[in-house]
Amino acid sequence: MAEQIMDKMEKLVSLCKRRGFIFPSSEIYGGLSSCWDYGPLGVEMKRNIKQAWWQTIVQSRDDVVGLDTSILMHPRVWEASGHITGFSDPLVECKKCNLRFRADELKAQACTVCGSPLSEPRQFNLMFKTFMGPVEEQANIVYLRPETAQGIFVNFENVMTSTRKKLPLGIAQQGKSFRNEITTGNFIFRSREFEQMELEFFVKPGTDMEWFEYWTEARLAWYINLGIKPENLRLAPHPKEDLAHYARCCTDVEYQFPWNWGELEGIANRGDFDLKAHSKVSGKGLSYFDEESKETIVPYVIEPSAGVDRSMLAFLCDAYAEEPDKDEIRVVLHLNPRIAPVKVAILPLSKKEPLAKVSQEIYSELRGNWSVVYDDAQSIGRRYRRQDEIGTPFCVTVDFQSLEDKMVTIRERDSMVQVRVPISQLKGVLASKLCI
Ligand code: ATP
Repeated sequence: MAEQIMDKMEKLVSLCKRRGFIFPSSEIYGGLSSCWDYGPLGVEMKRNIKQAWWQTIVQSRDDVVGLDTSILMHPRVWEASGHITGFSDPLVECKKCNLRFRADELKAQACTVCGSPLSEPRQFNLMFKTFMGPVEEQANIVYLRPETAQGIFVNFENVMTSTRKKLPLGIAQQGKSFRNEITTGNFIFRSREFEQMELEFFVKPGTDMEWFEYWTEARLAWYINLGIKPENLRLAPHPKEDLAHYARCCTDVEYQFPWNWGELEGIANRGDFDLKAHSKVSGKGLSYFDEESKETIVPYVIEPSAGVDRSMLAFLCDAYAEEPDKDEIRVVLHLNPRIAPVKVAILPLSKKEPLAKVSQEIYSELRGNWSVVYDDAQSIGRRYRRQDEIGTPFCVTVDFQSLEDKMVTIRERDSMVQVRVPISQLKGVLASKLCI
């Protein structure tokens, strides 16, 4: 069983490398531990995931607006948020080989590699430090943000004033975050540089639990609507005694990865902790005047905070399948068309004219709408396999009969069913099949 699990991960990692989804960072220099580069297909898929989130969370709602704040922020932001004093994990070090482990994750009492004794645990802050400007001194320390959320809190007043919106109001942001994790691993699940998609949804106190329930359901449904099998998802509420000091309650959305259940997203009711903390440290009152009650209040906030890379890994794991096809096995990614990196592949049966001209015309017409590829190399069977392996939902085959009857064949990835449609209707048929 354990072998099968690793087998699946190894196959997925190898597919990602071979087909251009994900490469190890700086590979020609031996790689940089826990950093990854997204290749031509990976970047398409990642953008599709982010766009699906942005569309659902921001563009389709009138109670959420977007934001894009800088990665480097005033160091006092991290003092107010509690990250300078509290954003740490307990670290233990092997006294002989100096390997480091997270004490709260380590089951053994000694080094798991050489068996030697371990040091006493000490708190290790996970924020990356750097210096602003040419002088490397204490006064110039800045941090790479470990979450995007603080950029939202410090702009609360700016957004409220410039949009003249009323509560409830959400502010959403996507972007890179950095954590100097003690241990990393499981491919892109835990890395030191990653992307987050975060929403801070500000509400009137007293309505917060209702909105917490609402967002928990909405976020779970988002993953399911984008194709993740419901049985591979679960909600994991945090017990009261494990809650962070700022959270009134918190639930994780977890996915059943090949190695175990793992967090995709955390949804927290943070009360008024953040706005109050920034008011105190900055000296600027961050509050809201409620026209109805004629009172000034400090809103509560519900925070669904998701990881782009972890979502992508979950979508890939869930979509990966090896299926019998005649006497062979086909590898297929059953990705939802919205997140598939390529939507349509144009496959002419011959490289030569006049088939090439007709096929190129179809290709030019479709590529203005979606991400489309053209492949005329090797047998048609092999070309279908290549597209299945990267999750392309539809292949369009142009054959010699197409020259006579002006029709082409659409081959559907999951069912492998083929239907013939007039070239004049191809775009409309594909648009309705893709639902985009
Ligand atoms: P974990 O317990 O796994 O370390 P966390 O509870 O610290 O995660 P949050 O601070 O809630 O994570 O961050 C929100 C989301 O950001 C996570 O659910 C995850 O999807 C993503 N994330 C956090 N840390 C990492 C990381 N090191 N690599 C990749 N994604 C991450």
